Amino acid sequence: MHPARDPAVTEMLQAFTATAEKNYSLFVGFPVAIDFDYQELYPLLRYPLNNVGDPFAEAPLYALHSDHIEREVITFFADVFRAPADDRWGYVTNGGTEGNLYALYVARERQPEATVFYTDTAHYSIAKNTYLLRQKTCVVATRPSGEMDYDDLARQLQAYRGKPVIIVATVGTTMTEARDDVARIREAAAAAGVARAFVHVDAALTGLCAALLRPRHRFDFADGADSISVSGHKFIGSPIPCGVVLVRASDREGVRRPTPYTGTPDITISGSRNGHTPIILWYAIRRWGVAGFKKRAEDSRALADYTHQALQRIGWEAWRNPQAITVVLRTPPDDTVRKWQLATYDGWSHIICMPGMTTGRIDRFITDLAAAKPLVQ
Ligand SMILES: *Cc1c(COP(=O)(O)O)cnc(C)c1O
Repeated sequence: MHPARDPAVTEMLQAFTATAEKNYSLFVGFPVAIDFDYQELYPLLRYPLNNVGDPFAEAPLYALHSDHIEREVITFFADVFRAPADDRWGYVTNGGTEGNLYALYVARERQPEATVFYTDTAHYSIAKNTYLLRQKTCVVATRPSGEMDYDDLARQLQAYRGKPVIIVATVGTTMTEARDDVARIREAAAAAGVARAFVHVDAALTGLCAALLRPRHRFDFADGADSISVSGHKFIGSPIPCGVVLVRASDREGVRRPTPYTGTPDITISGSRNGHTPIILWYAIRRWGVAGFKKRAEDSRALADYTHQALQRIGWEAWRNPQAITVVLRTPPDDTVRKWQLATYDGWSHIICMPGMTTGRIDRFITDLAAAKPLVQ
């Protein structure tokens, strides 16, 4: 029987949809925008799109690809992150982890012996990727805000005079949305006299906000980054996880592998790549543009400020990094954490005011919190 005509399948799907809808209406803790509407793209799900290979090279023999749309997406992000006009390259990834893996891979091929420096608040994918790539590592301390301790970096770099290093900056750490300053990282590397520092910026969470909000944060190519990875399903919003990684075209030459039977260079982590997610990102870019993304970032920041004040009003311990759309609060009782799906670590939880979140939802959360048992601190 065709599954669509099997009542058990219909019932399963209805139950799943109902649960998804309930959970969707009740989250404040995970970093994904929910103000998207991609209905116009639904008919494209009929097609087995595949962007195998290099989106900027010869088109693959497989003609059902969206390479030209992917190139527009890459160009948009390369412009926003001020990548050199004559030396830029990138592709749409499956998410932040793949972007970080790709950048660290490019960096390793450039400097095979280099030690990777990253902070104790860096995303868990960094440690995993250095493990996959068998790179030497060194963990840098952070300030209470979650931002890199540049003095500790400078101190640790002293042992690397004349040696190559790779340094990972985070723009929007997972728990507190701290933003590392790439210009200060460059200063520390220069002062220590390291041979070559490749600086990768993991901007998965709020790279786009950081580029568009004022005062401008120092983290992009013009500020000294060599590569940047950003998520598509977080601040931009996508029903399918995705992201963008940007590197210098000249740096990427080291990872080129022989062109296989696909007819396009094998230069990405995945072979077959999603042909739908570039269209999703392109659609969002066409819908919002730089001005629209900027307004969404400002609205998110304003909602974070509203949330912080509401927490203070009910006497709940909370704080927030400057510019952040994340509010950090003392972890509520278990049932509240579960109901609102709050990411929690070491006694602290957070609310991330991603686009689509409303004051109404925050108010309902605050009401729940105020009714929760008084906190023993
Ligand atoms: C979400 C996130 C990642 C990982 O992204 P995935 O899409 O889950 O692979 C990496 N770094 C930071 C800072 C993130 O916020």
